[in-house]
Amino acid sequence: MAAGEEEGAAAGTETESEAAVEELRSFKDLGVTDVLCEACDQLGWKVPTKIQVEAIPVALQGRDVIGLAETGSGKTGAFALPILQALLETPQRLFALVLTPTRELAFQISEQFEALGSSIGVQTTVIVGGIDTMSQSLALAKKPHVIIATPGRLVDHLENTKGFNLRALKFLVMDEADRILNMDFETEVDKILKVIPRDRKTFLFSATMTKKVQKLQRAALKNPVKCAVSSKYQTVEKLQQYYIFIPSKFKDSYLVYILNELAGNSFMIFCSTCNNTQRTALLLRNLGFTAIPLHGQMSQNKRLGSLNKFKAKARSILLATDVASRGLDIPHVDVVINFDIPTHSKDYIHRVGRTARAGRSGKSITFVTQYDVELFQRIEHLIGKKLPAFPMQEEEVMMLTERVAEAQRIARMELREQGEKKRSRNDNDDDTEEAIGVRNKVAGGKKKKRKAF
Ligand code: AMP
Repeated sequence: MAAGEEEGAAAGTETESEAAVEELRSFKDLGVTDVLCEACDQLGWKVPTKIQVEAIPVALQGRDVIGLAETGSGKTGAFALPILQALLETPQRLFALVLTPTRELAFQISEQFEALGSSIGVQTTVIVGGIDTMSQSLALAKKPHVIIATPGRLVDHLENTKGFNLRALKFLVMDEADRILNMDFETEVDKILKVIPRDRKTFLFSATMTKKVQKLQRAALKNPVKCAVSSKYQTVEKLQQYYIFIPSKFKDSYLVYILNELAGNSFMIFCSTCNNTQRTALLLRNLGFTAIPLHGQMSQNKRLGSLNKFKAKARSILLATDVASRGLDIPHVDVVINFDIPTHSKDYIHRVGRTARAGRSGKSITFVTQYDVELFQRIEHLIGKKLPAFPMQEEEVMMLTERVAEAQRIARMELREQGEKKRSRNDNDDDTEEAIGVRNKVAGGKKKKRKAF
């Protein structure tokens, strides 16, 4: 895909919402009912965010919405509040469906629905892969008000769970809608759209949105209102973005150098494959860093475990594939490192959006090797600025290479062992911190003596 091919705000037949959002308004001013205003208050949401100011009133009027908002902008509240309010007005089971591309996002969204809706007795269920289908079927049999799902597992249930259907659905939300509407989920989304009523409200939310009308038409929006907090792709002002241009073979050493230079911060490091995520986590742990992996080849329990440990600050480095690049709300990420440059420029925006959230400042550093120059240029083109180089002392990096080479060797060995174990147990769960921990103990005394970089 050429850079910028899908660039820009969603286009189509929608009317632009012209509302200027200058003065701070209250949730009540937006038309939110008292009991939900109280729920916001209890969450510490004193005033609505910009996207909430734009989207909530039009959603409450019963319009379809295309919400374009930066990550961390409060977009979940922007669609959850109107849905909860409509539910209060006409209570009904299996009322709303929220589709998200990743399992972690589904849990995050469900937490917000529950927090906002607990006082009105809202029941939600998360339907995602990697979790026992039987307990999900039981939860669906209880007919929750809101289902938050990844498309694949939902289709499974629509096809196989007796008595479950979405024929009375009133609201469909696609969060990270451009991902949901792209090819990856094409078959699943088509199946879902066929079995839900056309007569429903549809909300599409994303920080980046396709402008391909064809794709948007699939979501069958009816005369939608576009609510754009920033119509051009933007990265937040408090984010300092850097790149480093380095030879591919020294990537690990540069990574270790940067982690040492910025010690005391919490990091998200993005890798392009599950294997490299796992390898790099092993490498860093061998060097004494508290690093934890999160990728698609881990069991769902382990994925949530990793995320929770990182969220609770029990680990300072989360290594992840793009499974974690979108929407995750972890307020304390100080630095995002693109260890492997993203192949789709838009993923850059999502990845760096994991830091500098909610008014905090943050840094991002993108590794650019001799093979990545073109991809990097596309990113600069997309964000509309030239990035400065992150200052480094090359000699200090070179002093690390020997210790890094040793840790690489051990990591490779551990990775091989894990692969063999996995094959012999035919089990997916050996991708964990525990597994890494065990191996580190085996690598043992040697590691302990080594100074934690
Ligand atoms: P989201 O963009 O939906 O992922 O939300 C990002 C974070 O902002 C979440 O932790 C929400 O709890 C929080 N949030 C949402 N709306 C508000 C608000 N009006 N005031 C303060 N925080 C909010």
